Amino acid sequence: MHDTPSPGAIRVLRVAVPTPLRRLFDYRAIAPPAAGWQPGLRVRVPFGRRQVVGVVVECREQGELPLGELKPVAACLDEAPLPTDWLWLCRFTARYYQHPLGDTLHQALPVLLRQGRPLAGRVREEWQLTDSARSGDAEGLKRAPRQAELLTMLAQHPHGLATQAVLAQGYSREQLKALAAKGLVARRETPRTAADSPAGKHLLGEPALPLNREQAAALAALHEGLEAFHPCLLHGVTGSGKTEVYLQLIESVVARGRQALVLVPEIGLTPQTLARFRRRFQVPIVALHSGLTDHERLDAWEAAASGRAPIVIGTRSAIFTPLARPGAIIVDEEHDGSFKQQEGLRYHARDLAVARAQRHAIPLLLGSATPSLESLHRAQGGDYRHLRLTRRATRHAPARLELVDLRGRPRQGGLIPPVLAAISETLTAGHQVLVFINRRGFAPTLACHACGWLAECEACDARLTLHRQPAMLACHHCDRRRPLPAACPSCGSADLRPLGSGTERTEETLAAHFAEVPVHRIDRDSTRRRDALERMLGEVRRGEPCLLVGTQMLAKGHHLPHVTLVVVVNADAGLYASDFRALEHSAQLLEQVAGRAGRASHPGRVLVQTLHGDDPHLRLLADSGYDALAVQLLAERRAAGLPPFRFLALLRLESPREESAVDLARQAAEALRAWLAERALAVDCLGPVPAPMERRQGRYHLQLMLAAERRSRLHEATAWLAAWLEATPAARRVRWSLDIDPQTLA
Ligand code: ADP
Ligand code: ZN
Ligand code: ZN
Repeated sequence: MHDTPSPGAIRVLRVAVPTPLRRLFDYRAIAPPAAGWQPGLRVRVPFGRRQVVGVVVECREQGELPLGELKPVAACLDEAPLPTDWLWLCRFTARYYQHPLGDTLHQALPVLLRQGRPLAGRVREEWQLTDSARSGDAEGLKRAPRQAELLTMLAQHPHGLATQAVLAQGYSREQLKALAAKGLVARRETPRTAADSPAGKHLLGEPALPLNREQAAALAALHEGLEAFHPCLLHGVTGSGKTEVYLQLIESVVARGRQALVLVPEIGLTPQTLARFRRRFQVPIVALHSGLTDHERLDAWEAAASGRAPIVIGTRSAIFTPLARPGAIIVDEEHDGSFKQQEGLRYHARDLAVARAQRHAIPLLLGSATPSLESLHRAQGGDYRHLRLTRRATRHAPARLELVDLRGRPRQGGLIPPVLAAISETLTAGHQVLVFINRRGFAPTLACHACGWLAECEACDARLTLHRQPAMLACHHCDRRRPLPAACPSCGSADLRPLGSGTERTEETLAAHFAEVPVHRIDRDSTRRRDALERMLGEVRRGEPCLLVGTQMLAKGHHLPHVTLVVVVNADAGLYASDFRALEHSAQLLEQVAGRAGRASHPGRVLVQTLHGDDPHLRLLADSGYDALAVQLLAERRAAGLPPFRFLALLRLESPREESAVDLARQAAEALRAWLAERALAVDCLGPVPAPMERRQGRYHLQLMLAAERRSRLHEATAWLAAWLEATPAARRVRWSLDIDPQTLA
């Protein structure tokens, strides 16, 4: 740490700029903003031949170079620095994930702030009648009746009315400006304060539910530590009332004048979820989802940073939302894969939530029906408090999985006759059926029955998926598309047939079989248009018998009370995958899908089709449930020295030229091993090995894995490796990246 120089003595600013280079850049300070130079101020600086927006990270009296050799900052963009805690989180993230600080800061900012736009909204704009308007000098509005109405309305607010309120009444900014130009209204700016947020009295829009015994115990445990870092795992089946516990924790946080940050998975932030929060609370709720415009996102950021919004709900990136008065962080479905960013800055929002709650000394609540093995391990070891909800709040026991043997049975659209019979029965009884199939498109691939040719992507080690709506072959790894061939490209035969089933084919089969009920297909293709999903679900919620065919988009978040039968078309994908987390993830998915069945007044059934009905893991899951399987998986991870018993980091390398990637990977491994040996550092270096899909998008992929029992050791080694790669000329011709705590080895 450097001593902070006195404001007048600051001549050099160390700035983080958005570049892949892992260093800061020195610039000469210009005249400071009113509050003086401080870390967290955005500046525009010359960088190469461009100007970029950077963030001041350190202020110094002098740098390494003589002052005369430094370029001056072009402009300071802020009057006040960005929030200190936000800056802290970005620095923590950059260090932990071995990612360049400049790029981390860049990604953690709303687009408009990255572009150098001002952080507006810190002041509140209000409009008030002028003295001359009050003395009745409103002539000349005869031909502008709306302006006259607006003036009358403003007259009823002698202390002024905020722009937002005026716009909400259906008037426009132009009308305000026109009145101002005529000298009839005056514009005034007042600083926004926390007092703008409605006070505790009118917090609730509807009463909280009386909690059952387990919920009450969980809430009481949370209340024990509202002023301290207090990590808890809320572990309860779907429908056991976790969300109700979140709502009541938020209530106490907001009642104390603090803010709650709620992270939900990408597919969990549904209008239904938001509506539930908005019904419960009358205070402003900021929702950060992918549908926001850049301006809305900036507004949301400001509302959270200023403290105006007591409740912030968002997906992964919302972890970077600054909070003026943090009071609690909640991560719903904490096991969900969408919390980990899989490219660029590969952070895990749940893990950052832990760090952030610790920094703020506030409670952290991780909720799940199927906790990640990481969180479960910590709860069992006592690092997290383990709060259990074992019963469904609405009485019905969760449905058990029934395994259905696929071997030697004819399939139609992936479904065998007894399963089709069960679907028929359910529909006849007037209920709804959910058919879960984890593959979109018509069929996983197209095959030639004459010669055995399979449609493959020329750029990836992968088959092309056959789509019918619209008809094409598409690679789900690189998005390459090809028209359907009329004949086999290899032997010329016209006997080309789809192999296996995807959502489109299952939909087609079901529509033919059950012509009397509607079939709704829900996957990425059918819900591309905005609101398509909500429209379909709206229809489903009316409760008429129907069939839903969908991918994991349907597995969470959506409340489907009329579904009493869930069919899993194929449970086998995760059983024998090379990835060590595949089993954990498919078990979580199966439980989540099963959780959709029989939530309301009818008990549900879950039929799981499999070719491996005697697989011990699948049996354990079906007979004893996720928790029992988790115990078994943890024992296996311990024996294999895998997370959460050891920590991993992955170096990924890719290049269009196989030799370049292989050579660099070998050199890196050799250098790292020598360095580790010299220091006797307890870190294993495994590989390099080809990635599970070696060729992807026409590039070769390799990886090197680092494993250690102590995280600090792993970090020392990865930091050294990053520095080595930066200093090695051959590494410039190969794309490389580090993944700390990788969620997948793909
Ligand atoms: P989860 O988040 O664990 O899936 P929810 O909080 O959504 O569970 O609760 C499931 C259903 O049970 C919801 O309809 C909710 O309103 C209801 N519920 C939750 N807690 C209670 C309670 N204490 N009393 C009555 N109903 C409850
Ligand atoms: Zn052929
Ligand atoms: Zn491809």
